[in-house]
Amino acid sequence: MPPGSSIDPPDAACERLAALGLDNFETAADVARRQHAMVRGLARTDAPPNLIRGLGQCTPEACGLRRCRDGCHEAQRRLRAPLIPQADTLVRAQPGPLLAPTLVHPLWEVPYEAGPGAVSIPAVKQHVKRAFMRLTTRTGKRPTAVGAFEVCLNCDLAGTKTWAGQIHLIVAGATRDELHAALGVGARYPLPPYAKPLVVEEVGNTARQQAYALKRFAEQRIAYLGKNGRQARNHLPLDGHDQRTFDRWLSELTLGERLILVGCKRLNGRLVSVLP
Ligand SMILES: [Zn+2]
Repeated sequence: MPPGSSIDPPDAACERLAALGLDNFETAADVARRQHAMVRGLARTDAPPNLIRGLGQCTPEACGLRRCRDGCHEAQRRLRAPLIPQADTLVRAQPGPLLAPTLVHPLWEVPYEAGPGAVSIPAVKQHVKRAFMRLTTRTGKRPTAVGAFEVCLNCDLAGTKTWAGQIHLIVAGATRDELHAALGVGARYPLPPYAKPLVVEEVGNTARQQAYALKRFAEQRIAYLGKNGRQARNHLPLDGHDQRTFDRWLSELTLGERLILVGCKRLNGRLVSVLP
């Protein structure tokens, strides 16, 4: 079945993903509810009326906009439902362990008032591309990676809010040390001692980890001082105004614009390796 078509009954996607160990993929009903809430929220922003009208007409089978946006929950589900199993198959076919780096680069943090759109996605992708080119130059390896760029809303101890960009990837074909050397934030960005801009985790279940890396979701992370005197963060949902800012941003991006692919590309809706 060509990905993106929807001859499946609505929750065949959920069953397919559950078989891969991802048992809580969003249902068609979740998506409809989220789309409705987003459209109502966007009506309270400066979003163009035809954009709001189009998003209001999106269904599991087809979108109301000729080219739907990254914010569209229906289009996101049609993108992610096939992409997650394709990515699972692709990365597990590569030799070596699978690792999941998360990079929160200080360059990708922008003032609250500027909004998440102030982070340049092309610049983020360029940064990742260069990091993997360095890795190849040093090691001769050509890893495969699938993931995405996302933002969260940080609130520091002084109450100052910023939008912070980060990437989550699933990588095959590189070691933890090689990823740290390639993606690590250099000493020219002074960071507080508790900051961990790059974390590389082992991958337990690829499909679950891939779904996490590709999610369409933002939260706020509110700093507080723990009992041991170290800074920690509470993770909470965005409040209504910030959710509308986030949705408005996604409504300006083309579908899949936040995707980050290394050593592979999407061709006619399929994820294919570009490695020799
Ligand atoms: Zn749509």
